[in-house]
Amino acid sequence: MKAESRLKRDGAPQPPSHTKGPRLGAHMSIAGGLSTALLRGQETGCDTIQIFTKNNNQWSAKALTEAEVRAYRELRQGTAIWPILAHDGYLINVASPDRRLYRKSLTALGGEVARAAALDIPTLIMHPGAHRGSGEAEGIRRVAEALDTVLAGSTASPVSICLETTAGQGSSLGYRFEHLAAIRDAVTQRERVGICLDTCHIFAAGYEIRGRKPYERTIRELDAVIGLAHLKCIHLNDSQRELGSRVDRHAHIGRGHIGLEGFRLFINDPRLRHIPMILETPKEGDPVGNDRRNLAVLRSLAVLRLRRGRAR
Ligand code: ZN
Ligand code: ZN
Ligand code: ZN
Repeated sequence: MKAESRLKRDGAPQPPSHTKGPRLGAHMSIAGGLSTALLRGQETGCDTIQIFTKNNNQWSAKALTEAEVRAYRELRQGTAIWPILAHDGYLINVASPDRRLYRKSLTALGGEVARAAALDIPTLIMHPGAHRGSGEAEGIRRVAEALDTVLAGSTASPVSICLETTAGQGSSLGYRFEHLAAIRDAVTQRERVGICLDTCHIFAAGYEIRGRKPYERTIRELDAVIGLAHLKCIHLNDSQRELGSRVDRHAHIGRGHIGLEGFRLFINDPRLRHIPMILETPKEGDPVGNDRRNLAVLRSLAVLRLRRGRAR
């Protein structure tokens, strides 16, 4: 069957069937071509998806061909999937004190911005990087410098960069909201720098989100330190490891240390309703089945709360 015939071709993006909650989706593989991510997203029941625009474990990538971009655009226009977000490759480390790695990372990051632009993807999510023993302040300075260079080199680009919160493994930056705020504040074109919050990462970094009160405290802290207006994406992942473990291991929704209550609070928070929420939970040999189940769990949390709200 031709890929395209599986899609509705009714033009403009349609609102999701469950219009009361935020747009929900998952990270989708591009194995077999960029366009396949859209088909996988549709098959899975995603409102929104995140992709790598190239192999995430390699430095180099073949340039996007015109045919590839055309196929992707045509397919995208036929789906209701929106927005589409890009995540940068795992080798990039613009916080590195190693000049060679820093320069290589800078080039690669510039390439990621260009690829996102070619695909009309408005948001590129990146990890701040690891300072490798050179100190947090130095690392933060290098990340800001790199963002200044990349953004200055793409002034006409519609792409903005989202700094992701991290679990703080090793010497990784981004496990405190203050790190991301400091980077953003130091960037000249900071209106093109947003934030992506990952629930597993902030929990592992020590931000409590289980229960109404600690959740409120964490969201208020995020607002006070960075500003909720700059929050552009949320990654919904449960955590295999405990609060403050500083270890980054994603778990299925409700099956980790965060548990369902934390996700119920995110899904039903009116302040976050306009923000795309993306799963990066384990795929384990059945990507569609696993993602569908996690999406169903999230959607059930939203419905439950709305029913309760009416009953009160
Ligand atoms: Zn990430
Ligand atoms: Zn993430
Ligand atoms: Zn992670």
